[in-house]
Amino acid sequence: MTDFTGKQGLIVGVANKRSIAWAIAQATASRGARLALTYQGRFEEHVTELSQGLSAAPLVLPCDVTSDSDLAAVFATVDREFGGLDFVVHGAAFAPRDELTAPFSQTSRDGFRMALDISAYSLIALSRGAAPLMERRGGGSILTLSYLGSERVFPNYNVMGVAKAALEATVRYLAADLGPRNIRVNAISAGPIKTLASAGISGFSSILGVYRERAPLRRTIETGEVGDVAAFLLGDGARAITGEVVMVDAGYHITGM
Ligand code: NAD
Repeated sequence: MTDFTGKQGLIVGVANKRSIAWAIAQATASRGARLALTYQGRFEEHVTELSQGLSAAPLVLPCDVTSDSDLAAVFATVDREFGGLDFVVHGAAFAPRDELTAPFSQTSRDGFRMALDISAYSLIALSRGAAPLMERRGGGSILTLSYLGSERVFPNYNVMGVAKAALEATVRYLAADLGPRNIRVNAISAGPIKTLASAGISGFSSILGVYRERAPLRRTIETGEVGDVAAFLLGDGARAITGEVVMVDAGYHITGM
């Protein structure tokens, strides 16, 4: 099991106890990591309350990933308090509700821009901010969260699928760019899990049903299972893995029928 004693991480994307990013926070904190958690405005109370359950008190900071000044403030505080960073988890994603219900050809310019900005561009902005702090630690590991909708069509996933395709390409370009500085960039493509974000996708429960029926393991996955794989990818055991999209989906992606 990866030991995170002495490691410092920044986790973006915790909204509540069902968030995948929260499971990753727990998986790394329980292995010894010191964390900074960010929240999007309306989740301040939830995230502050959750943070009190971690073994070492984390920094809890506001951050809207569309705001360059929020991002700059986060990295300035992390720099001041931690003096360096070993890992970053990016678990932010959003698409306006209309884009997840209307036919895909009706995707609006604004909806497209917003989905790609929040769900994909933000990984570039976060990586740029984290890189100098990671260099001071001799390198680092960056992890984002994707979904198979990047490659295959799922009902109503729509522009989010396009954003995930961009996100996975971003992982590869960042991995190539930052690799010479010993910074690794990977994604976990998680199977469907009931969370606040997935609740916004109409018909999401039927996707869960299809996974239970057809995935080789005949079940869906839990956030803790993503947390365990994340701990591996963020830790030294994965030191030769970068630019990868690791499937954590009970095997669903291999199925043809
Ligand atoms: P979640 O709702 O708990 O997390 C989504 C997070 O995105 C929230 O914390 C929200 O505050 C944050 N966010 C949205 N807009 C933001 C902004 N402008 N600035 C900062 N943060 C912002 O849901 P989740 O399912 O845990 O999602 C986490 C990641 O996992 C997402 O990238 C999602 O696409 C991905 N994912 C989810 C599933 C699933 O089935 N739940 C499957 C595969 C991948």
